[in-house]
Amino acid sequence: MRMRNVWGAAVLVLGCNAEPSGGGTSFTSAGDSSTGPMETTTMSPPPDPSTTSGTDSGSADSTGVGSDSGSSGSTGDDVTTGGEPNMVDCMGVFPPQWQDGTDCDNAFPYEVHQYGYGTVIFRQALCTHANAPFFYMLFGQEQALLFDTGTGSNSVGGAVLDIVDQWLAVTGLPDIELLVVNSHADADHDGGNFQFESTAFATIVGSSQAEIEAYFGFENWPTEVVTHDLGGRPIDIIPTPGHAPGHIAVYDHQTGVLLTADTLLPGRIFIEDFDTFATSVERLVVHTEIRDVCHVLGGHIGMTNQPGVPYDFGAMVHPNERELEMSRDHLLELHQAVQAMAKSGVVVTETHNDFVIFPL
Ligand SMILES: [Zn+2]
Repeated sequence: MRMRNVWGAAVLVLGCNAEPSGGGTSFTSAGDSSTGPMETTTMSPPPDPSTTSGTDSGSADSTGVGSDSGSSGSTGDDVTTGGEPNMVDCMGVFPPQWQDGTDCDNAFPYEVHQYGYGTVIFRQALCTHANAPFFYMLFGQEQALLFDTGTGSNSVGGAVLDIVDQWLAVTGLPDIELLVVNSHADADHDGGNFQFESTAFATIVGSSQAEIEAYFGFENWPTEVVTHDLGGRPIDIIPTPGHAPGHIAVYDHQTGVLLTADTLLPGRIFIEDFDTFATSVERLVVHTEIRDVCHVLGGHIGMTNQPGVPYDFGAMVHPNERELEMSRDHLLELHQAVQAMAKSGVVVTETHNDFVIFPL
């Protein structure tokens, strides 16, 4: 994957001077690094459609309808496609690699990468926590969505607020509401929420199912998909319980990104409630049948770049890590596998090239 994005601004890294997060690990600025995702820049201006081109993610499908989606009927009326089709030019980009945890003396406590205009990916460093969660910011005209906050051990709050300031500077907006939403109530996803409790312009939705339902106005959890407008930027809030009861995914109409957190990721997919999980995967498949999916982005990377080889549990060093991005084909692969398990009644750990189905 190329280093620079299509708008000329390369990888965005902030927080170079953040304090170490404990554990004796010291972080120093790597801003002079000429390789890897360490280039400091600022939020780029909006793209000029006449001069930009797609990145050929290989995963976009103008129809989004997989012939083998197998989505018909297995969950009856619980899942309906609904809504309008969504077509997207896939232009998001990724750094060539993320920090792999091998050089904590010269690592950032988190990385910040501009996927595209108004779309930012954070990764908490492996040096701070073995789960090294990813979390995301999607900017609209009225709200900036922060989807997950990491473990809270990495002082990322200041970087988030810096990015908000950059957005206001780039857009000329007078202000914006920071909307803190969690994919689910696990400590590696909502542990950083507290960092925004004293931020006057932040709304912390809360990570429980009840809080998610209340804020977004769900009336029929989990069968309903709610569309929420960040201000000229609609996103779909898709219930995906199974890994955890109140788990959600987010589909972004602007970028065609599907944020799946721990429902689909390149690593072990831990499943608490298999039947519920299977229905959630079905819901994602159906929802994306008429909507382009440029990338499926999960909450962690747990696979090496060797097909079918995950890292050991708790590994804090990830040499030769697989890339973060997945495609709708992976969703279809997961769907097919869990449907087969549901049908056979044999629910077991199953290793695929890019993920591991891991019933608990
Ligand atoms: Zn997680």
